[in-house]
Amino acid sequence: MPRQLDRPDTNTLDSLLGEIRACRHCAAHLPLGPRPVAVANPAARLLIIGQAPGTRVHETGIPWNDKSGDRLREWLDIDKPTFYDPEKVAIMPMGFCYPGVLASGGDAPPRAECAPLWHERLRAHLPNVALTLLAGMYAQAYYLGKARKKNPDRDRRNLA
Ligand code: SF4
Repeated sequence: MPRQLDRPDTNTLDSLLGEIRACRHCAAHLPLGPRPVAVANPAARLLIIGQAPGTRVHETGIPWNDKSGDRLREWLDIDKPTFYDPEKVAIMPMGFCYPGVLASGGDAPPRAECAPLWHERLRAHLPNVALTLLAGMYAQAYYLGKARKKNPDRDRRNLA
C-alpha cells in the first residue's frame, strides 16, 4: 500500500497538537488572529475544560494566566507548578483562541466550531484522566446538555 504523503500523521498527540497550533478554521472571526492554547499529555489525571483565552492568555500563550486562573488554582488548592505540569493537568478550552468582545461589552463566547473540531480527538489522547472539570457554562452546556442543573451559587463563581 503506498504511503500517503499528502496527509499529516494524526495518530500521535504531537502531530495533533501541531495541527491545532496551525488551525486557522475561524481566523476570520478572531480579532487578534489565531493562537490556540491547549495543553495535553497522556499521563494527565485532571482535565480542565474552560471557556476561551482572554487577552493576557492570548499574549502569553499560557492558559489560565490571569485572575480567573488564580481563583481557579485557589479553589482547586493546586499550586502553579502542579497546575502547569502537563503530566498532571490537561487544559482544553471550549474555544482555543481569543474570541474578542461583544458589541454590548463583555467577553464573546468561545467559537462554536472549535470544540466539535478538536475536543474528541484530543480527549482520545488523554486515557488517564480521572476527573474532568467543566469550568463555566459553555463547557457545562456542551458536555452535560439538559443534565446540567441550574446552580446559582456555582454559576456565579465565574471561573471561566
Ligand atoms: S478557535 Fe479553534 S477552530 Fe478557531 S482558529 Fe482557533 S483553534 Fe481553530
